[in-house]
Amino acid sequence: MVSIYDIEGIERLRSRHAVQPHRIKLFRNALFKNVLERDDALATLPENAQAAFRSEVAFQSLELAERRDSEIDGATKLLFRTADGALVESVILRPKTGRTSLCISSQVGCACACGFCATGRMGFLRDLSTAEILDQIVQAARMVKPEGRSIRNIVFMGMGEPLLNTGNLFQSLELLRAAPLFNYAGSRLMVSSVGIPHAMEELARRFPEIRQAISLHSARQEVREQLMPLARKYPLKQLRKSLAALSANGKVMVEYLMLDGVNDRDGDLQALETYLRGIPVHINLIPFNAFEGCTLRGTPRPGREAFATRLKQAGFDTTLRHSFGTDIAAACGQLAQGRQTRS
Ligand code: SF4
Repeated sequence: MVSIYDIEGIERLRSRHAVQPHRIKLFRNALFKNVLERDDALATLPENAQAAFRSEVAFQSLELAERRDSEIDGATKLLFRTADGALVESVILRPKTGRTSLCISSQVGCACACGFCATGRMGFLRDLSTAEILDQIVQAARMVKPEGRSIRNIVFMGMGEPLLNTGNLFQSLELLRAAPLFNYAGSRLMVSSVGIPHAMEELARRFPEIRQAISLHSARQEVREQLMPLARKYPLKQLRKSLAALSANGKVMVEYLMLDGVNDRDGDLQALETYLRGIPVHINLIPFNAFEGCTLRGTPRPGREAFATRLKQAGFDTTLRHSFGTDIAAACGQLAQGRQTRS
């Protein structure tokens, strides 16, 4: 079988069945730009080639296992099942700006074991393939199409650490940028990582236009190590050099999950200001979505607002993120972990 995302494989198939190149272009436009279902896209090919493409091309690698729609804010959580029975999540976000975003996964489970993350509790199962990464986008795009929407922004911020699956991440980014397939502008793509300096720098070298976010969550080494075990391997000092280098391509997004009594005190704020001073960044303060088995608590809203105000007064571009989908377990890994635990 040839994956639908395999440009060379599809070219070989085209040549073998003597399909005109412009018919392949129509076929790909039907699939990736108009996000038609498989059979409707196949109808754009000559009749004599349709059966071969139907039987020789792998169009889909994920099956939708569950869909949950928030009644609060329009977020939709999708739970997909892979061919080997693993579960991965994606989240469709419909902010008031009308710019629909999709948060996708890059691995099944995660080895990083961050203390605030349900996926981290699952441990690492395996990397997602390029087809499994891209399939989340195609299926979500088909889902929002009847609403008159398209997926405008894509963030690698779901299950798994994308920079620990760089082979498939980079291939996915290339295909997302490729004109014959998705044709996304790099500015609409964002990769969020736990902070792996050499991989962040490689990503910036290969895809300078793609935005990067880093999960900082504390500018105090001991606190960060408690929250994120990988911080021991990649200390804040080393990370700062990469952040400074990356900011040459544009502002880096700094994600800061606000945890009550853990990283929201005066000393934390001062450490954050000192750490980021002189680097062009955008700080995104994130409310914490509690989940079963986790003893951490989120900073109450007034505390988050005060933290944001002080960062702004100190001259930092800061946003206070709204928490999407609190009624549908939209935080990374909550739904998959819940399913896995129940089964
Ligand atoms: S926050 Fe990201 S890197 Fe950390 S355990 Fe969860 S999925 Fe892995």
